[in-house]
Amino acid sequence: MKKIKSSEPVSYVLTDIKKLTHDTSAFTFKLPENSALDFLPGDHMMVHAKIDGKDVVRPYTPSSTPDDSGFFEMIIKRYPDGLLSGYVHNKKIGDELLISGPTPGGHFEQGMAKNVCMIAGGAGVTPMISIIRTALRRNYDVNMLLLFANKTEADIILHDEFEEYARKFDNFDSVFVLGNPPDNWSGLSGHIDENVLRQHLPSPTENSLIFLCGPPMMEYKLRQAILALGYDKSRLVIP
Ligand SMILES: Cc1cc2nc3c(=O)[nH]c(=O)nc-3n(C[C@H](O)[C@H](O)[C@H](O)COP(=O)(O)OP(=O)(O)OC[C@H]3O[C@@H](n4cnc5c(N)ncnc54)[C@H](O)[C@@H]3O)c2cc1C
Repeated sequence: MKKIKSSEPVSYVLTDIKKLTHDTSAFTFKLPENSALDFLPGDHMMVHAKIDGKDVVRPYTPSSTPDDSGFFEMIIKRYPDGLLSGYVHNKKIGDELLISGPTPGGHFEQGMAKNVCMIAGGAGVTPMISIIRTALRRNYDVNMLLLFANKTEADIILHDEFEEYARKFDNFDSVFVLGNPPDNWSGLSGHIDENVLRQHLPSPTENSLIFLCGPPMMEYKLRQAILALGYDKSRLVIP
């Protein structure tokens, strides 16, 4: 299998667009046959564009796995007035985008920890997707918990996929937290706080690793809370 990595922007053809929520879609790009992106799950790509005469570059994380050959996927949320997310969401199948990478980020590979807790807010789940898909596909010896906060049920990216994994695999579980839950909501309500962390995080040992990705205020507050619970800084990854 040929491994693809480029520090210069390369033109990739968009072959599929799948709407996942009201503001988030999965974009699939074509790779040559028998080729796969050379990355560890959690690493990111850089999307380049000229928008209104200005060069704009933003990082996006592959949600496909390093084992996927002939294509890679990125899940991208459209922000109101977002320059690059709006640019990508305006693209159609058959269009081309300039993308460089992969570039190392906060990634995971087998052996880094036996217990992994991934704490995500909204589109902050994107680095976790490839980690979860890869670890389950490759049968990694790791226990994973996804603690996933959103405003409403309609905002939850890949809700069905995560629930299916939780049913199917003993080493994966997910806990969904909603700020505005519906009446019949069976998950948690409110925000992820110290109590939720105390209840769900694995014990702070060298065999535990926490990934945290979400809006800046969520990351700031939870980072403090995680360290206060006895985790060493080296056991916390903010991709
Ligand atoms: C390492 C890394 C990996 C990333 N991977 C992904 C990914 O896989 N998928 C994905 O959708 N995004 C990802 N992002 C975020 C992405 O790079 C952009 O920041 C995002 O798409 C907004 O860019 P924009 O040009 O559309 O918005 P901009 O034009 O930069 O901002 C426009 C407005 O959008 C709002 N906004 C922008 N970013 C945020 C935010 N994070 N939270 C709340 N409001 C915001 C602000 O109100 C801002 O004023 C990643 C970021 C990093 C650092």
